[in-house]
Amino acid sequence: MDEQPNVSPKIVDHRRSAATHGFTGLMSLVLGFLFGMSVGSPPVDHDRDLVIVTSTALDRSDDFWSARLEHWRSPHVVLVDHAHGERTPCGTADERSGPFYCPSNERIYLDVAFLRSIRGELARAYVTAHEVGHHVQKVRGLLGSSRPQIDIELQADCFAGMWMHEEQLHDHLAPGDVDAAIAEASAVGDDRICPTCSTEQWTHGSSDQRVAALAEGLRGGPCR
Ligand SMILES: [Zn+2]
Repeated sequence: MDEQPNVSPKIVDHRRSAATHGFTGLMSLVLGFLFGMSVGSPPVDHDRDLVIVTSTALDRSDDFWSARLEHWRSPHVVLVDHAHGERTPCGTADERSGPFYCPSNERIYLDVAFLRSIRGELARAYVTAHEVGHHVQKVRGLLGSSRPQIDIELQADCFAGMWMHEEQLHDHLAPGDVDAAIAEASAVGDDRICPTCSTEQWTHGSSDQRVAALAEGLRGGPCR
């Protein structure tokens, strides 16, 4: 996937490690200005590649949906550190919660380190695109209806696929990107994550259902 070079302005970085980097970087600038001292360069953000792929998915899916929906509002992504939980209006964002969208403040909470285990840039971008899909549902008034949760989740997968279809049309994708995203959809099916769970305990749908929903979006939708 062709990625943008910059971090999205719609990313709110609450990672503690990043805050430390920011402070060190600021002190370095201040001391450098006052005393002509070089205090060394700020530490490297080892997750920058993951922040960039998340930024790309956020900014491009934001562009995609803003051109198609009335009353669109850009969602934000809050980056959190997995070691430190962050309280949100939708509960604590931490290692166990995984990425989620909070409708009340229209923010996506994401620990980018979570993405490290996923192979393929588009597969990593899929995580953000799925959460943006929930924001699409919020803007369209589709959340809080009586629809079963699995249907809501599969529709978010399909919306993510619609954005990927647009990425294909703009030649932003490399060979293998779509296959990796489909493999990821299969890997996060409820029957794969919890083989002993009953279907009543499913929240996001089976591997086959998730792959089918993403594929429907990849054909351009419409998403049911
Ligand atoms: Zn979801």
